[in-house]
Amino acid sequence: MDQIILWLNSRILNVSQTTQNVTKEEPLVARLKARMQEMKEKEVNYVGNGDANSHVCKVCFESSTAAMLLPCRHFSLCKSCSIACSECPICRTKITDRVFAFTS
Ligand SMILES: [Zn+2]
Ligand SMILES: [Zn+2]
Repeated sequence: MDQIILWLNSRILNVSQTTQNVTKEEPLVARLKARMQEMKEKEVNYVGNGDANSHVCKVCFESSTAAMLLPCRHFSLCKSCSIACSECPICRTKITDRVFAFTS
């Protein structure tokens, strides 16, 4: 009897794990593109009051800034967003390299 319950439990766990994975899979690039489109529309505002969120990634507004973009040297993106972007969202310079900083 106990074994059947255990088996059922493991089945339920497996099912919930797979459904979680499906819903969790977020199209990051699509989200980034939407965000960058938003930024283009509100660009003037961002240039004006960047101080309050100066350490938050300017693309996802979730992670803290961790990547300096080269050659323009803007330090405004988190690591994953800097990798996903091909041009700087601040000045539109084509990104040729990135320098990742680590904060302790
Ligand atoms: Zn980010
Ligand atoms: Zn830039």
